[in-house]
Amino acid sequence: MPDPTPPAADPAVPPATHPTAHPTAHRDTPGLTAPDRTPPPVVPASDGPAAVTDADRAVLAEQLGRVPRGLVAVAARCVCGRPLVVRTAPRLDDGTPFPTTYYLTSPQAVAAVSSVEATGAMKEMTGRLAEDPELAAAHRRAHEAYLADRAELGDVPEIAGISAGGMPHRVKCLHVLVAHALAAGPGVSPFGDETLALVADRWSPDRCTC
Ligand SMILES: [Zn+2]
Repeated sequence: MPDPTPPAADPAVPPATHPTAHPTAHRDTPGLTAPDRTPPPVVPASDGPAAVTDADRAVLAEQLGRVPRGLVAVAARCVCGRPLVVRTAPRLDDGTPFPTTYYLTSPQAVAAVSSVEATGAMKEMTGRLAEDPELAAAHRRAHEAYLADRAELGDVPEIAGISAGGMPHRVKCLHVLVAHALAAGPGVSPFGDETLALVADRWSPDRCTC
């Protein structure tokens, strides 16, 4: 099964064309009842904290160089109100499946997490999965929670059962896991929580460094 996680070298910008995009030509096969015609995304209430405002779009464009594609909601905010994490549609407008449902947009957070990745933490974390059944179970629950959150946005067969960041068997991208932890809150992503603790003296959602 192809690994859909975007390259770690480019954690902040969803790829223009996903590198493992599954061909979707079958959707247009005459006579085939398209199984992946998805219902419209769940759109958050326009006045809720997740709602994307014009100001958010401006900040996101500043953070990423452009407004992220497939943008559905702001999933986490800095105490100052600026977006930290966006929630993205599982299928982009051009049909590309996009498995990274939670995307870390804050450059300060991305840099802090990159500093942890640079220490090789993912290999050590992956190793602990084999030694600690409780941790492995928590990481699997995070995977399932990730898929459940995505399912709210539609069904995309090409990425069914595939989450992101290496879940459930590996730890591959801490940016993905931190984005999930920030979006879901503490206690959902064990490695996301752990990474946030590791960077807490440098970056925290509770202390604006925007
Ligand atoms: Zn801030």
